Amino acid sequence: MKRVLVSACLLGQPVRYDGSSVSVESSLLHKWKSEGRLISLCPELSAGFSVPRAPAEIEPGRDGEDVLIGKAKILEDTGVDVTDVFRNAAMLAVDVARENGCVFAVLTDGSPSCGSSYIYSGKFDGGRRDGQGVVAAALRANGVKVFNQNQISELADVLRHTEARPN
Ligand code: SF4
Repeated sequence: MKRVLVSACLLGQPVRYDGSSVSVESSLLHKWKSEGRLISLCPELSAGFSVPRAPAEIEPGRDGEDVLIGKAKILEDTGVDVTDVFRNAAMLAVDVARENGCVFAVLTDGSPSCGSSYIYSGKFDGGRRDGQGVVAAALRANGVKVFNQNQISELADVLRHTEARPN
């Protein structure tokens, strides 16, 4: 059975910066959880942040890949530079994926960590742009296929095909 790394906030855990979770009604997620397939992780909490914490965004025009190679910063809305903590969160997520044999992940879109198709503008104005967070970028660089919470049925198709193949 292929294990799947999942953003903890998608499983109802109130770990987002404002103490909320992300509401996802997915019978597939429930099924996978009861099968023991899911590995739940909040990379930001694992790296030392607490709840609540200040909102943070990747600087304008950059994304998680740039952060990983030292070409971009992540700043809190107060201007505090939290780049190193986010980079550490990404490395921890890669370690957890590796330790648990996860080659797939379902991550919360929009987050400067877990975002995989979009992130916020970097200006704290609510604007969105295409891009990925640091955790998604690091996982992809290490061979993990990343899906967002709106792509769970796509992942189910991939799992069906992967697990139907004879070894
Ligand atoms: Fe934690 Fe990722 Fe959810 Fe942010 S999006 S609260 S880092 S699990």
